[in-house]
Amino acid sequence: MAAIQRRQFDTLIIGAGGGGLRAALRLSEAEASVAVVSKVFPTRSHTVAAQGGMNAALANVSPDNWHWHMFDTIKGSDYLGDQDAIEYMCRAAPKAVYELEHFGVPFSRLDNGSIYQRAFGGQSQNFGGDQAVRTCAAADRTGHAILHSLYQQNIRAKTHFFDEYFSVDLLKDEEGHVLGALVFNIMDGQPLIIEAKTTLLATGGAGQIYRNTTNAMINTGDGLGMALRAGVPLQDMEFFQFHPTGIAGRGMLITEAARGEGGYLVNGEGERLMERYAPKAKDLASRDVVSRAIATEIREGRGCGVNKDHVLLKLDHLGEAVIQQRLPGIRQTCMTFLGIDPAEAAIPVSPTAHYTMGGIPTNRHAQVVVPVKDTPEEAVYGLYAAGECACVSVHGANRLGGNSLLDILVFGRAAANHIIGHLAENRYHRPMDESSVEKAMQRFQRWNKNPGQDGESVNVLRHELKTVMEKHCGVFRNEAVLREGVEQIEQLAERVKDAKIEDHSDTFNTARVEALELENLIACGLATMHSAFARTESRGAHSRMDYPERDDKNWMRHSLYSLDTGLDYKPVRTKPVSVDSFPPKPRIY
Ligand SMILES: Cc1cc2nc3c(=O)[nH]c(=O)nc-3n(C[C@H](O)[C@H](O)[C@H](O)COP(=O)(O)OP(=O)(O)OC[C@H]3O[C@@H](n4cnc5c(N)ncnc54)[C@H](O)[C@@H]3O)c2cc1C
Repeated sequence: MAAIQRRQFDTLIIGAGGGGLRAALRLSEAEASVAVVSKVFPTRSHTVAAQGGMNAALANVSPDNWHWHMFDTIKGSDYLGDQDAIEYMCRAAPKAVYELEHFGVPFSRLDNGSIYQRAFGGQSQNFGGDQAVRTCAAADRTGHAILHSLYQQNIRAKTHFFDEYFSVDLLKDEEGHVLGALVFNIMDGQPLIIEAKTTLLATGGAGQIYRNTTNAMINTGDGLGMALRAGVPLQDMEFFQFHPTGIAGRGMLITEAARGEGGYLVNGEGERLMERYAPKAKDLASRDVVSRAIATEIREGRGCGVNKDHVLLKLDHLGEAVIQQRLPGIRQTCMTFLGIDPAEAAIPVSPTAHYTMGGIPTNRHAQVVVPVKDTPEEAVYGLYAAGECACVSVHGANRLGGNSLLDILVFGRAAANHIIGHLAENRYHRPMDESSVEKAMQRFQRWNKNPGQDGESVNVLRHELKTVMEKHCGVFRNEAVLREGVEQIEQLAERVKDAKIEDHSDTFNTARVEALELENLIACGLATMHSAFARTESRGAHSRMDYPERDDKNWMRHSLYSLDTGLDYKPVRTKPVSVDSFPPKPRIY
């Protein structure tokens, strides 16, 4: 076999969404040599699909300050979020927005010229008072505006892009330091070793583990799979967010901004259902609460349509002008996929898989941390993670809408800041352990040959995985259903070892890409199902019918799932940096 080509950079960033690009920009501006690897052209990353906006206590529309944003985020997280990281994020938010403005993001404007902000779920003034208006938006295409601006700024700063390269696995030295990754060029199938002094995982979420999802086809949890195989456990994977308003049966997202602008949900009997579940915040309660409310209405026979399997989102009372100005993207989506104009008719919606709260454990500098002996959080040398693939954890058991765009920008930048310090102290590349290259190559080449004539197809297994996750790890869970889920997903993990693809060519072999993605999806599915089975309480998005209460005595702790040793736990960081801690309280909206 010909020697594998090698390239050296100061930093390798895997992922060109908002998180990866924010870090890359800061590093390139600091004169570091940066490689950004992305399996799709950068501006096709899922950040481009973000609609509603990004939270920051700018107080342009209502009174607001970062303490209230911090309180809302902790309450939204059902007290599982780490309070030091949440403080860091909420304090940094206004600066993150102004930076974007200077990068060229065309935010919508108020009449007085300042940045437009809209109401979103779970936002309040004065620690639980009236609705705060905190979400900065560029109409309902905020992610699109952010991603394109960041990409252009990176081109200006001369970041080196490897577009349409797929990252297979992390590479290490003999002491376990992370020294880059094995990637391959999707265009010609050729492998490439990228050696780097620091590696940042910014690969986004794993929403494709579910059948009905708002997530792009590319959101297959590859970074999570790479971390697991490198011996890093995944944190809090049982907390998967279901967005209340996906288009029923199809999954496309109708942004929370639709309710922020005044839209509301009605059931089959024509009632405004949220009045019953969240008397004060109503349709702007946090996402787990609204998703459970809709699922309950459907389960109890008050759904809409012939099968009573969805509810309706009403926007027609807002008037065509507001819809066209503030929600043009979702209007277009409804017209294209449903043949409905929301200015005239209600939209059929149901809860849809949306966001991976769990992920690769990091501290607030985005360093990946693992438990070592009695230390719950020791940094892994050279390895960072930011964005949806990371678990800092600022979202805890339930993320607030508008906090993810904020998270990816704040922690993308924080990662770059820490990496700059690391590079100053570690000036030379370390020698690679060639056995780690061999291991990664084996995984890459395994799909070139079929293990047996009767191996199953990747497509069939992928479909089965999504169905198992939906059936056994959905909005409501219980022991019997989860137990069966664990068994089925363990079987899938075995069956994939003998799976096959028919196409072994090198040029644009998407079958091979999908096979490698399937392995990552199954790893994420295992982590999610096992962690959900073990957590015998209800908190945030993890709702157990058999354990309906939150149990702070036993479960104020993060789950850590690893492939070799299964489940472990570590305490929640309840001490902020500069303010008093927010102790757990009943969560009422
Ligand atoms: C439809 C939708 C609407 C949303 N709206 C909002 C909103 O209004 N406000 C908000 O705060 N949040 C929103 N979110 C959530 C938010 O957009 C995402 O969490 C966030 O953009 C993720 O950014 P990221 O940088 O972590 O990853 P992504 O943008 O998902 O990018 C991941 C990158 O990793 C690369 N990658 C992955 N695997 C590999 C591999 N193996 N090899 C090479 N490259 C790889 C991909 O090519 C891509 O470049 C929304 C999400 C969705 C799905």
